[in-house]
Amino acid sequence: MERISVFDIFKIGIGPSSSHTMGPWRAAQRFTQDIDVSRVTAVQVSLYGSLAKTGKGHGTDLAVLLGLNGDDPVTIPVEAVQPTIDGINLLKTIRLGGRRDIPFDPASDVVFLYDQTLPYHANGLTFTAFYDNGEGESHTYYSVGGGFVVKEGEQDLHATVTLPFPIDKGLELKDWCTQEGQAIWEIVFRNELTWRSETQVREELMHIWTVMRDCIYKGCHTDGMLPGGLEVQRRAAPMNRKLLEGRPYRDVNDWIRQISRGNHTFQQILKWVSCFALAVNEENAAFSRVVTAPTNGAAGVIPAVLMYHLCFSESFVEEDIVRFLLTAGEMGSLFKKGATISAAMGGCQAEIGVSSAMAAAALTECLGGSAEQAMMAAEIAMEHHLGMTCDPIGGLVQVPCIERNTMGAIKAITASQIALESDPSKAKVSLDAVIRTMKETAADMNTKYKETADGGLAVHISVNLVEC
Ligand code: SF4
Repeated sequence: MERISVFDIFKIGIGPSSSHTMGPWRAAQRFTQDIDVSRVTAVQVSLYGSLAKTGKGHGTDLAVLLGLNGDDPVTIPVEAVQPTIDGINLLKTIRLGGRRDIPFDPASDVVFLYDQTLPYHANGLTFTAFYDNGEGESHTYYSVGGGFVVKEGEQDLHATVTLPFPIDKGLELKDWCTQEGQAIWEIVFRNELTWRSETQVREELMHIWTVMRDCIYKGCHTDGMLPGGLEVQRRAAPMNRKLLEGRPYRDVNDWIRQISRGNHTFQQILKWVSCFALAVNEENAAFSRVVTAPTNGAAGVIPAVLMYHLCFSESFVEEDIVRFLLTAGEMGSLFKKGATISAAMGGCQAEIGVSSAMAAAALTECLGGSAEQAMMAAEIAMEHHLGMTCDPIGGLVQVPCIERNTMGAIKAITASQIALESDPSKAKVSLDAVIRTMKETAADMNTKYKETADGGLAVHISVNLVEC
């Protein structure tokens, strides 16, 4: 089994998709490390399966260009993304690995193989480097969801790490919590010390939250139309203005204070949670900086629920940010190990369903629930996403994706409240049972409902994509 850090689940990057943008980007970077860049005269890329079918809408081809060009999704300034791509298209040259200029024409050197799928995973891509002596080498990578990349024929290094509390199933997590008399987040924290110092864990988690928070803030202050040609109007910014009723603020912290002090009716809180989730996924759709949680398509659920707790829970303390992310991250790991977090393998239950389960468990612990109640909340949240299809219209991570994040966030809060009022020993469905069910449901789902844009809303809503 994999040994997954919370920081493998929460990764800072660029939208709109972890499996179709972040993963291919990372694969392209890996490829430049796996070849002898100094001898390369040309490179070709083949996209298979779901990467071919929805790759255009998800920006897969653009991510591959940036990865080959030596740009990193964590550090590249968001405003440099489009000019870099424009430059490659104009000059038909790429700076391979950030080191050496070679001829590269995206129109002919990135090939979309719409009818071919590689056997290991629906998201496969093969890179070929041609050398100056007429020889070449090819490497195949799989983007297996959440920005994780597996190279064909390579052992998974995550499996070789030894943790003090190895956890593959919910039952094992529950047993460790009982044996140690600790909450989920405390057990996970002790595991994280395998990779980082206590200070690093705290600082990096707070940095993850800062990126999430800033993404919400930016989305709540950006008007206009999303790119891609679907002509989807942004809604978070007008919603933010309406909810604040003209109250002034100076910066992000002052903005949060104004939200916390405002009207707290049930309707207002519902609107704020939706606004937070919309903001993140509008930013994601606009190729901005987001945190994969556990994917980009579902990146809005966890920030929205954590922001809800921060703004509206009387019990909120800053330490809850660390607790929330540790517990949420562990839930994401359980679903990745026991089922999938790849929509191309499991449909949208693997994205919105998993993120909702992660947020439900995390919120439950922050609100004083036991480890059993937190796992029950995760189970409830997933139970009501089982079978959810992935059917992005036009292959863009916009409709239904953006609104789905609001639903996932609200379901997470509801699941948490139900679990907090329940006795987990009387639950009929365990977390492990729902993870198993999700895996089987994923296997049974027709391929057209798994991020292919061949089924669901993607074929029932006719769109004329406007070139932009
Ligand atoms: S429908 Fe769901 S799984 Fe598919 S791209 Fe949108 S958010 Fe991701």
